[in-house]
Amino acid sequence: MPLTNKIMKSNYHTHTYLCNHAIGTVEDYVKKAIELNIKTLGMSDHAPFNFLEDRSVRMGIEDYPIYLKELSSSIEKYGDLIKIYKGLEIEYFPTHIKHYQELLKELDYLVLGQHYIQKNGKLKSIYHLKEVDDMKIYVKTLIEAIETNNFKIIAHPDIFLFNQENELTEEMLYLSKMIILSAKENNVALEINANGFRKGKIIVNGQVKYRYPRKEFWELTKNTGVKIIISSDAHKPKYLFDEAIIEAYKFATSIGLEVEEELVMN
Ligand SMILES: [Zn+2]
Ligand SMILES: [Zn+2]
Repeated sequence: MPLTNKIMKSNYHTHTYLCNHAIGTVEDYVKKAIELNIKTLGMSDHAPFNFLEDRSVRMGIEDYPIYLKELSSSIEKYGDLIKIYKGLEIEYFPTHIKHYQELLKELDYLVLGQHYIQKNGKLKSIYHLKEVDDMKIYVKTLIEAIETNNFKIIAHPDIFLFNQENELTEEMLYLSKMIILSAKENNVALEINANGFRKGKIIVNGQVKYRYPRKEFWELTKNTGVKIIISSDAHKPKYLFDEAIIEAYKFATSIGLEVEEELVMN
């Protein structure tokens, strides 16, 4: 497989300036995607979610109409040149089940980006998970979310292993398998998140690895038939095709994974 920009035919995980930690308007990403010959661009900015205490890295609720307007006008302007899907990246909380269905009335898809777990009535950041008991909550939440059928894609499903700088235990591998099987059964795509490659390496038992995507997790997807996609998780238009994307394709190839180039949205 030649590592040119022809490898990236679609990207379903794309942010905008509206989430307060990315740059570029919807149109900026669309123009860049057309330039790169990307056929399908899914916009999935961080959803406004009042339930979260830390909303500094999310779209404000007042900006949501702006997002929808930018999406519609780009579809109108560039719809003949590129397929644009309207989406959001969002956490799943069982208490908000109606919220997802509301959002899906005007959107094409939701990406599950579970950055928190709910524990003892409080939210705990996924980046602070260390204990297996917390990982179990994460996995239970993901499976519950997958089973609602509200999510097309699970962003960085392996992020619960973020703090594991040692070999993964049998229990962690088992939890990984549970996610993979649930995704397969419910026809939900798992995402190899290229942003992990932009965030740097760690050494595990003398081997160079990434916090995510975590190789041991993805090895378990082999021969399961689960749908796998590579996403940029672009926070800048230029990230629609960069070294991290090349790295992600190399990563998938090295494990022997076949990635989906196109997802059926409806
Ligand atoms: Zn982000
Ligand atoms: Zn994202």
